[in-house]
Amino acid sequence: MNQRDYYEILGVEQDVDARTLKVRYRELALKYHPDRNPGDAVAEALFKELAEAYAVLSDEEKRKQYDQVGFGGQEPVFEGFGQGGVTEFFENFVTEFLGGKKRGKTEGRDLRYTLELTFEQAAFGCEKMIEFPSAVLCTTCKGTGARIGVSFRPCPACGGQGEVRVQTSRGLMVRGCGTCGGDGKIVSDPCPSCTGTGLVPRQREFQVRIPAGAENGTVRVVRGEGEPGRRGGKPGDLHVVLRVEAHPMFVREGSDLLVEVPVPMTDATLGSELEVPTLDGVVRMRIPPSTQTGKVFRLKGRGLPGPAGTGDLRVRIAVEVPAQLPERLVAAFEQLRGDVGEEYYPRLLEYKKRLRKR
Ligand SMILES: [Zn+2]
Ligand SMILES: [Zn+2]
Repeated sequence: MNQRDYYEILGVEQDVDARTLKVRYRELALKYHPDRNPGDAVAEALFKELAEAYAVLSDEEKRKQYDQVGFGGQEPVFEGFGQGGVTEFFENFVTEFLGGKKRGKTEGRDLRYTLELTFEQAAFGCEKMIEFPSAVLCTTCKGTGARIGVSFRPCPACGGQGEVRVQTSRGLMVRGCGTCGGDGKIVSDPCPSCTGTGLVPRQREFQVRIPAGAENGTVRVVRGEGEPGRRGGKPGDLHVVLRVEAHPMFVREGSDLLVEVPVPMTDATLGSELEVPTLDGVVRMRIPPSTQTGKVFRLKGRGLPGPAGTGDLRVRIAVEVPAQLPERLVAAFEQLRGDVGEEYYPRLLEYKKRLRKR
């Protein structure tokens, strides 16, 4: 069985700090705690996964080792599906906790799929067809596991009761029968298509709708689209984990976009017109004379759609000095140094005043 990435389990980035990790873990552990989800096998499995992931990532040594070698070379099962760089990581994570207890009824397993999106796809929303391997009900036997026209016979292990009595140190206990899975009957002649399991492997497709402004790490749960249940059990769910690609220019902050624009010191001093990227292409923006480094200009409504309306584009100015000064200009800059004295630099004056007060 392939293991899920510990960072993915906790829904955190790989550079997450210890405090955030702890907060995130507590939040999720509380949500999936068995006391809060009695009888819920999915929650129980998630809870165990969380504990394991946290045990490793919260330990500096173990985390370092995990970052270097992972689980020991276990990679995602399926990669590079279709176009658009969609990689997927599909996994079953519910083991058969219910085996035998519920009279053979077994819930379908949950499936997990990691969907990679470009920055724009997540920003504006999109529909994506995903394709993943899944067990589906065998059409030959309609999921019963028995060869057509052949009936079942009572389970010899439990005499058709579905339960067995076991003598333990605490007395006589009744347990679900392992042979028939609690069903009380077994297939006398298994279906040749599915060798009696009632399920066959198949490539499945599913259309996922991504809402505008979807965030990295979000999990969309599609109820009932996991593997089918056995013998009338509920189907599992399909969990689609969104991985949003970083943008080469923008950083997201809620529905706002942030971009840093380098501006030559001369332009920042004299005022200028800048070329600024937006999601709809490059726009021009004027900056006034004496624009300082770190100054932020807001382009209203140029951000991302969000619950509270469309966000803004925040343009942060980064004043740049020449990386190299041509010999012929050194004299001109010497002249400037002399002519534009300290009195023209309010931040410097303030700094010097503080320096002297010490
Ligand atoms: Zn079959
Ligand atoms: Zn039995």
